[in-house]
Amino acid sequence: MTRNISGGRKTAFYLGTALMAIGLLLFLSTFFSAAMDWGGGFGRDSESQSRSMMFRAFGGMALIGVGAFIRGVGARGLAGSGVVLDPEQAEKDLEPFSRMAGGMVQDVLEEADIDLGGRSEKVVMIKCQACATLNEDGSRFCQECGKEL
Ligand SMILES: [Zn+2]
Repeated sequence: MTRNISGGRKTAFYLGTALMAIGLLLFLSTFFSAAMDWGGGFGRDSESQSRSMMFRAFGGMALIGVGAFIRGVGARGLAGSGVVLDPEQAEKDLEPFSRMAGGMVQDVLEEADIDLGGRSEKVVMIKCQACATLNEDGSRFCQECGKEL
């Protein structure tokens, strides 16, 4: 069962990512400006410069916030992000997302070689035809009723 994320949501995801990147650049640029300003000494228009830096810092942060929101909506869908209250749709919207997250967790666990409840050591049981008792794989007779398996 494969459910694809709609094109609109993909676009929103990439748009949000781009906005976040732009916001981050804008935000970081203030530090570069500050460093250059500090190195070169304060100019005559330092006041307007610091004002533009404030603007860029806050504008950058706002862009990151908006970008993160749009990105989240793109990733989880409108219902999944809580924009539209629709639990059923939210579940559908979140499915690819949680599947992805679950896959990542699984990958990490496999990478770290963590065994969750003996998943790698799968025990095969044979069901007795007569009494329905589960017997260990390889056993020839039922441990409960003694009938041949
Ligand atoms: Zn039996």
